[in-house]
Amino acid sequence: MPDSLTCDVAIIGAGTAGLAAERSARSNGASTMLIDPQFAGTTCATIGCMPSKLLIAAANGAQSARDAKRFGIRVQDVKVDGPAVMARVQAERDRFVRHTQDDITKIPEEIRICGRASFISPDELALDDGRTIRAGAIVIATGASPHVPEAYAELGSNILTNETVFDLEDLPASLAVIGSGAIGLELAQAMARLGVEVTIFDEGRRLGGVRCDKVHAALASAIGEELTVRLGVKLQPGLASDGITLSWSGDNSGKGTFEKVLVATGRRPNLQGLNLSASGLELDDHGVPRHDRATMRCGKSSIFMAGDAAQDLPLLHEASHDGAIAGRNAAASPASVESERFAPLAITFTSPSLCRIGQSEDEGVITATSDFRDQGRARVEGINRGVLTLYAAAPDGQLIGADMFAPAGEHLAHMLAWAVQMKLTATQLLEMPFYHPTIEEGLKPALRTICAARPLALPADQDSGTPPGG
Ligand SMILES: Cc1cc2nc3c(=O)[nH]c(=O)nc-3n(C[C@H](O)[C@H](O)[C@H](O)COP(=O)(O)OP(=O)(O)OC[C@H]3O[C@@H](n4cnc5c(N)ncnc54)[C@H](O)[C@@H]3O)c2cc1C
Repeated sequence: MPDSLTCDVAIIGAGTAGLAAERSARSNGASTMLIDPQFAGTTCATIGCMPSKLLIAAANGAQSARDAKRFGIRVQDVKVDGPAVMARVQAERDRFVRHTQDDITKIPEEIRICGRASFISPDELALDDGRTIRAGAIVIATGASPHVPEAYAELGSNILTNETVFDLEDLPASLAVIGSGAIGLELAQAMARLGVEVTIFDEGRRLGGVRCDKVHAALASAIGEELTVRLGVKLQPGLASDGITLSWSGDNSGKGTFEKVLVATGRRPNLQGLNLSASGLELDDHGVPRHDRATMRCGKSSIFMAGDAAQDLPLLHEASHDGAIAGRNAAASPASVESERFAPLAITFTSPSLCRIGQSEDEGVITATSDFRDQGRARVEGINRGVLTLYAAAPDGQLIGADMFAPAGEHLAHMLAWAVQMKLTATQLLEMPFYHPTIEEGLKPALRTICAARPLALPADQDSGTPPGG
């Protein structure tokens, strides 16, 4: 291979966003180069979405077996076989990883450039093997990595992150989870359901940064039944002969020893090694190039951001959408086209799931809550807990967002995100069919409250609710 390469669009990083950007740029007629040090598979498959959901699936299996007695089913001796749980997580994860690697090998070989890239100038990259790439446009899709605070960094292999936790051969006896964001909450509840003694810590006073007080109360009560929650505390870690000690102070204080500590204090964009100072880009306060989410373009340059590196919404479907937008505009650079972005949708796969859609309370917003404790189908299934809060704009009741910790939350959240994106009103939703008995019927009380809050009448047949029994 020559030492100086050229292409229309160079993409740095072969994760979900980079792969989407490369596909999009090439299908829009650009010659491309996709740069990655390893092409080892996406974060989603290797250390993210998929292994975390595999661990959660095992945890929910154990919980269902324990809960079966509610239906008069006796399951004796629910035993969690830690090595078997982790072996399945790893085997299925490896299958997903192979799948993404197979997809990567379908990209023509001359396009796949193995190496780590950094900027020499706004249109030229250096690779760590000495080669250079000159490109008409560049997409930065380098992802993010777990942020491990200094106090934990030197404490050895008992400190886990999402990069190491799925490689454990067995489940620990005890686990401290630092950080109650999506990753912390999901893994803390899963580990607790798998029989691990779990404590979750956060400096803040809210789990998962939940916006709605009622939703937070439901979440905190459910999580508090399964594991120890310590909010509003600062931590001091140290080494112990049998694990890691944590001393905490703040809203409460104490000291404990844990076999393992999972640090889930956020993920930072992988931008440090890129020599951004040579890119000429303007950076925000976090060192991320300023960019427009409608085009993913950085200022008036020919450089585009995509995925977790952009630090907008670190979610898979957004990374993929970012990549498609960035790749298309990079191929047409400098003629960028603005794209409509999705209604914001984030799901934390706790049980029930914690979901956040669109905007929340603001001046002039109508707020309405459905409670699932007495919802018909949820009671049938024995999953009747949680609440859902809808936000609608006055005066016409157009849905603008929702928060929920509710049964079938991931499905309700999709319906609501689609409704928000389509700018539907509560009346229009109530004019559509709700099958009986379903969890979806649980939306109706909140939708009716929104209708009642404005001077328009409920649609025909909507003046009486579906009682839990039909
Ligand atoms: C535990 C966990 C659970 C998650 N669960 C969910 C979920 O349930 N749902 C959801 O929507 N999202 C979830 N996410 C988030 C989701 O995984 C990410 O948003 C998504 O994977 C980001 O993709 P990306 O392409 O930006 O980054 P990545 O897939 O990380 O790709 C970045 C690539 O860039 C490469 N790279 C870095 N620096 C350089 C360089 N200098 N030169 C060349 N290459 C470089 C890296 O090697 C890597 O291959 C989860 C994340 C984690 C950690």
